[in-house]
Amino acid sequence: MSEPTALCGSVLTADGVRHQHAVTVADDRIVGICPAATLPAGLARREFDGATIIPGLIDAHVHSDDWQAPLFLAHGVTTVRDTGCALDEVLARRARWNAPLARAPRLCCCGPLIDGPGVPFSWTPMAEIVRTPAAARDCVDRLVDAGVDQIKLYASLDRACFFAALDQAQRHGRFTLAHLQNHADAREAISAGLDEIEHLSGFAEALWPERRAAGVHWLDLWPDLAPERVTPLVHLAVEHGTWLTLTRVVWHAIGRNDQPTQRCRPHQPFVPPDVARWWQEQYPYGMPAARRHTWVRALAGLQIMSSLLIERGARIVAGTDTPFVQVMPGFSLHDELEQLVECGMTPAEALAAATNRAADALGWGQRVGTIAPGLLADLVVVRGDPLADIRATRAVLAVMRGGVWLDPAELLAEAAHHARQPVRHGARRIGEWY
Ligand SMILES: [Zn+2]
Repeated sequence: MSEPTALCGSVLTADGVRHQHAVTVADDRIVGICPAATLPAGLARREFDGATIIPGLIDAHVHSDDWQAPLFLAHGVTTVRDTGCALDEVLARRARWNAPLARAPRLCCCGPLIDGPGVPFSWTPMAEIVRTPAAARDCVDRLVDAGVDQIKLYASLDRACFFAALDQAQRHGRFTLAHLQNHADAREAISAGLDEIEHLSGFAEALWPERRAAGVHWLDLWPDLAPERVTPLVHLAVEHGTWLTLTRVVWHAIGRNDQPTQRCRPHQPFVPPDVARWWQEQYPYGMPAARRHTWVRALAGLQIMSSLLIERGARIVAGTDTPFVQVMPGFSLHDELEQLVECGMTPAEALAAATNRAADALGWGQRVGTIAPGLLADLVVVRGDPLADIRATRAVLAVMRGGVWLDPAELLAEAAHHARQPVRHGARRIGEWY
C-alpha cells in the first residue's frame, strides 16, 4: 500500500457532516475518517477550508459517448449508468472507463434497449428489436451472457414481450428498468416486480386507464390529478420500494428548447457541433402554441406527482438522460438536483439520490456512493455547504477518482477543445443513435 494522504475539511458521511475532519486515502481506496486534529504528524494532507468533501456524484440515466467523460468528471460525476447503447460499443467503453487510471467516470451499463418494432420510440441501433415473447427471452439471455449490469425495457415493446422479458430478467436475478408506454402502465409494472421506472413513464396511464384505452396520449392525461386516483398509486410505488429516476431536466429541456434563454446557458461552449445539429433537427425552434399548452400542463402534473412521491418517501434516484436536447453531461445533474429540491426534497435527500441511493440502484453500494473505509476513493470537494444550499455542489474545487486527483479547469478545457473540432474522430454521428 502506498503512503496515505488526507483531505481535510467538512466531510459528508452516512451520519451527516463532520466538520474539521479528514478523509484518508491510500491507493484507490478510502482508509478512514477522523478529526483532522488527530492525524499523525508528517502525513501528506490537503486543506479545504470552507469546503465540503462529498462522495463522487452518480448520474443514473445517461447515453454515454467518449466526448462526455471530461464534462462528467469536471462536474464531480464519477459514476454513470448507461441506460441504452449498442452492445459492443458500451461494453468496450465500460472496459476503458472502469480501468483504474481512466480519465472517465465509472460506467454501469444496461446494453441496448430491448424494444419492439413500433413507433414512435424505436431508436436503432441502440435498441434490439424483438417481435415475440420467445425472442424477448432470448434477447435477455444474450445480454446477460454478454455481461451487461442491468436490463432496460423500452417503450415500443408489446405487452406479451414486455412481461416475457421482465420475467426472464427476474429468472436471472437481473435488476430491470423500463420506459413504460404501450405495454404496461406503472401499476401493472410495479405489481409485476419491475425494479425501476424511468421518467415517471406509465404513471399517467395508470391513473386514467379508461382514457388511455380510448387512445388519449399520455401528455394529455396529466392535467386532471384526481387525489383519489393518485394516492393509491403513490402508495403502491412506495410499498414496493420501486426505484424511480425522474429525469425532470429532460422534460423541462424539451419544453424550453425554443426559448432564447437556452442559447446563453453555460453549457453551450461545450456542445459538440454534431450534437447541436441533432438537437436542432429533433426539436426545431418554435414549438406551436397548442403543443406548448400540452407540455406546460403535463410538466405541472409530473411535478405534482414527483412531489407526492418525494413526500411519501419513494426511492428516487438522480438521472438526467444526457445528451438529450439541451441536457449536457455534468451540468445537467446539478440541474436535476435543484429540480428535486424544488419538488420537496431536502438538500441531503437530493444528494443521497445522486450518491448512496443511486449506488444502491446500480448494485454498487459496496463500491461507491458513500465516504466510508474500504470504498473507492471517488471524492468531490465543493465550496460551501451543500446541505444548506444544494447549489453548492456546482462549485467543484477538486475531484478525486480512485485516489487520483483531477483538475476541473483542465477537464473543462479538454471538453471545450473537443467541442471546437468540426468532426469528432472515431465517433459516430450522434443522429445515428438517437
Ligand atoms: Zn434515456
